[in-house]
Amino acid sequence: MDYPRSCYAAVVREFGKEIEIEEVPIPQELEDRALLVKIECASICGTDVHLWEGSLSIKVDLPVILGHEMVGRVVAMGRHADVDSVGQSLKIGDRVIWSHTNCGSCYYCTVEKQPTLCVNRKGYMYETMEKPPYLMGGFAQYGYVVPESGRIRIPDRIDERLASLSSCAFRSVISAMDQTGPIRNTDTVLIQGTGPLGLLAIGVAKISGAKNIIAIGAPDLRLDMAKEFGADQVISIEKTGYKERMERIKDATNGRGPDVVFEFSGNVKAFAEGLDLIAPGGRYMVVGQLGDDTVQIPPSMITKKNLRVMGSFSGDISHYWKAIQFIEKHQHDLPFHKLISNEYSLKDINTALKRMQSFQEIKPVLYPWK
Ligand SMILES: [Zn+2]
Ligand SMILES: [Zn+2]
Repeated sequence: MDYPRSCYAAVVREFGKEIEIEEVPIPQELEDRALLVKIECASICGTDVHLWEGSLSIKVDLPVILGHEMVGRVVAMGRHADVDSVGQSLKIGDRVIWSHTNCGSCYYCTVEKQPTLCVNRKGYMYETMEKPPYLMGGFAQYGYVVPESGRIRIPDRIDERLASLSSCAFRSVISAMDQTGPIRNTDTVLIQGTGPLGLLAIGVAKISGAKNIIAIGAPDLRLDMAKEFGADQVISIEKTGYKERMERIKDATNGRGPDVVFEFSGNVKAFAEGLDLIAPGGRYMVVGQLGDDTVQIPPSMITKKNLRVMGSFSGDISHYWKAIQFIEKHQHDLPFHKLISNEYSLKDINTALKRMQSFQEIKPVLYPWK
């Protein structure tokens, strides 16, 4: 096969320590349905920062190659790998994004039809890089798409940076919105959090025809961007107290509160606030919570307000496909490119992560070949 025996990748050996660029082997034999891709670019997700810090409540099999949001170009294929997960043909040279795995033969895959809950799930950047197929992370020059991963071919006209962010941030938003159900043209939507997911969700809510979109977040630059993505009203979490936020939101909703609330902030306090703010009969989708912190709530609010409170973890391959469809149609209707805050080469990974940590970045992109 026409590719080298090793390549460079950003490896986490110990949480919180400086990341080294290491030489990692490239599998020389591909399993059936597997793909070897050259990583075109990888965007950085908040979860990369949390994994590196050691603050994730998800099992990590160190050492790992960091990164799980990326787009790659196929350089080699196993047998029977010539179609993607929606039946489109796939050949060497095509670009793809791919999902974490699901087995198709456990209770959650088969009965619940919730592949993100698969008990045999393998996640990119969570698997050790010391065992084959080694290349299970995005911040690397090559990536290995395992047979059980869904994969979607990316049309040429889609910008690689937008393809990359569709493989985690945007598919998570699409999955959450899919599970929440349709947004009606009479709905007020509240988005908690103005990180990449919150901003993307504002854009989708806008295109979906929400009557009114309110965003709570910070800093001010993000709030400006929230408006550009379609928020009708923005509220700074830094400059307001809860009472003021509550009053402003009640004023904007005839005293009822928002009909649909999406939590993308990651702050546990946001959950208690969201439950209090939401209108009776409302829908509350909780997406940003991946830590171990706790918060006190009066559960009677759920009962008395007849709420539907839901969670959404990750997204299955259908959401990757829907994310790409949305980008293809709307890549010029929404200011997606303003999310891309910087571009880095692989060796600058530590700088990029530290800038993410201090909120100086929104969605930086790594180019492992530059
Ligand atoms: Zn992510
Ligand atoms: Zn399964």
